[in-house]
Amino acid sequence: MCYNKKGDYMKNLFEYTLEELAGKFERLGYKHFNARQVYSWIYKKRMWDFDSMSDLSKPLRTYLRDHFTLEMPRVKRRQVSQDGTIKFLLELADGHVVETVLMDHPYGKSLCVTVQIGCSLGCAFCASGLKQKVRDLSSGELIGQILAVEETEKLRISHLVLMGTGEPFDNYDAVMRFIRTVNCPQGLEIGARKITVSTSGLVPGIERFKDENLQVNLAVSLHAADDATRSRLMPINDVYPIRTLIDATQRYIEKTNRRVTFEYLLIDSINDSMQDADRLAKLLRGVNCYVNLIPYNPVDELPFRSVDEARHRAFYDRLIRGGLRVTSRREKGGDIDAACGQLRIKEARD
Ligand code: SF4
Repeated sequence: MCYNKKGDYMKNLFEYTLEELAGKFERLGYKHFNARQVYSWIYKKRMWDFDSMSDLSKPLRTYLRDHFTLEMPRVKRRQVSQDGTIKFLLELADGHVVETVLMDHPYGKSLCVTVQIGCSLGCAFCASGLKQKVRDLSSGELIGQILAVEETEKLRISHLVLMGTGEPFDNYDAVMRFIRTVNCPQGLEIGARKITVSTSGLVPGIERFKDENLQVNLAVSLHAADDATRSRLMPINDVYPIRTLIDATQRYIEKTNRRVTFEYLLIDSINDSMQDADRLAKLLRGVNCYVNLIPYNPVDELPFRSVDEARHRAFYDRLIRGGLRVTSRREKGGDIDAACGQLRIKEARD
């Protein structure tokens, strides 16, 4: 935490949406458009020194210098995979560490952002779920992950996936502030359709999200088509079972007119039988969705195994024959502790 000479707490400017900053400036007698100028300096020109923001008045520059910080996480570790995926361990101002993964795709650079320190949802297959939630990240800390990676790698992120550690709808307000800031034309200007929010199935979050009027993509982690298997993998299913989840997702689709992706992690002898595929096809028939089949990335501490190529292919074909639209994502960075939470666990062990 930073304090100025008078002992006042200095706030991280990345926490402010454009409208909030403009409102603050106006209350202090500055102009509304000054907020746009400041946004342009930090998000477009990447100027981190208030005194060098040459089109601002001297009093405003002094005010900014005395009352705000531009706080970014520090890159503590960086692991590069053979496929170009880079995993970062970032240290926040209070010493906590989070993981952020940069993926190189033909269509651009995608960043997988972490939304909480640890996660309390306890999915059985997940390395992050091995550590209980410590706290939510603020919107400024979410933005800091993008800026820290962009500054380190000297590039611009084109796509965002909120699929790192934590459940986005369990940190709802910060995530919405974050989306509005990165989507803002004066901010990082990442198109809403290039942002994907992934939920483990927190139904009240889906209900809220459908009314946000955002063109952001929604992904729902399903991972099983029957309640017994899903509850075994994801305890959240005991609270919001599959039927409740699918019904909420249908309401989201009807309200937003947007197609949803259901994520399905294929795990050996758990959810990979042809009966599982048939159940899934039956469950999602008529729902405007894609199923994204993901190979499981094994975690040392957990008993689950990935399926082989032939099994993956057979499951995929069965879903196609069942009438579903299916994509098959190759897991990126398999050689670098790429499963969410692995690097953070390793750091704690070292
Ligand atoms: S998969 Fe996501 S929601 Fe489940 S424990 Fe891991 S981080 Fe939490």
